[in-house]
Amino acid sequence: MTDIRDTVILGSGCAGLTAAIYTARAGLKPLILEGHEPGGQLSITTMVENFPGWPDGIQGPELIANMKKQAERFGAELQLAHLRSVDLSARPIKLHTSIGEIHARTLIVASGASARWLGLPSEQALIGHGVSSCATCDGFFFRGQDIAVVGGGDSAMEEALFLTRFASKVTLLHRREQFRASKIMLERAIAHPNIVLRTNTVVEEVLGVDDKEVKGLKLKDVKTGAQDELPIKGLFLGIGHEPNATMFAGQMDLDEDGYIKTSGNVLTTHNGQIIDGVFACGDVQDRRYRQAITAAGSGCMAALEAEKYLEEHGH
Ligand code: NAP
Repeated sequence: MTDIRDTVILGSGCAGLTAAIYTARAGLKPLILEGHEPGGQLSITTMVENFPGWPDGIQGPELIANMKKQAERFGAELQLAHLRSVDLSARPIKLHTSIGEIHARTLIVASGASARWLGLPSEQALIGHGVSSCATCDGFFFRGQDIAVVGGGDSAMEEALFLTRFASKVTLLHRREQFRASKIMLERAIAHPNIVLRTNTVVEEVLGVDDKEVKGLKLKDVKTGAQDELPIKGLFLGIGHEPNATMFAGQMDLDEDGYIKTSGNVLTTHNGQIIDGVFACGDVQDRRYRQAITAAGSGCMAALEAEKYLEEHGH
């Protein structure tokens, strides 16, 4: 007979770890399944300058390490595992995971969102051979080289700025004229002498598939239709993220882009009806704010709702 856990948390990013701190302090001994990307997006970012309480900023991985330590201090258990399938209609909830079946009275979904790719066959073929979605992981390999970053949001600006530490020149390619990035990040990128911005430009092909290393990009100006080639050694994607919620399709209401639809901040629904004991927090349910602090805030709310639910059901 499998033990029944009071609380299982899916995901170990900012939302999941905040939920872990709260539920652990409430004595629920939460089990956190760390997922495919332990630590979530903060663990692959650089300096976080807008998390309250860190006037000089803090490195994303350090912030995550601190949160883990804080959750473990109160009895949270972290396991490197991922969810294969789930039965949300069963009570206790049944989770089929890479480490076996787990039964839970409450489930907090904090599975986040994963990096988006362009979807070009040449891009996919060269992932790990010059194509990357993580500047902090792979930037080091491009010392003294020319590289490109795709995207027009804060992630792309942050990646481009970070990559100037290594690359000799960073070309930032954006498909439109207007940028989605915040003014401060865009201004920093524009002001940097080693960053060149190219707007209205899309990548049609990543060159170098036969040689198993990126040799350049085939680009197209979407206004004029003109094509040209940009010789570069590395391509970094900074084009946003996809919510990790496909495993709940059919059992939970998702919006048109696959984000979990929440009611009353963190309650989940199926066909508009609240799913008892199942809560969602962080980027998997937030397409609007997507900040570390808002993820932490919603993780706290999910934990408090889980505690309340267990109390009301006599646990
Ligand atoms: P985002 O704001 O959604 O921006 C994604 C960018 O990628 C957009 O410019 C989009 O173009 C472009 N894009 C999407 N799909 C594309 C495709 N297939 N081909 C070419 N371009 C494509 O995502 P994000 O930059 O990851 O930011 C997400 C959130 O995190 C935001 O709220 C942001 O403020 C926050 N963030 C903050 C910081 C910071 O403050 N330091 C750092 C990183 C992220 P369009 O504009 O044409 O749609």
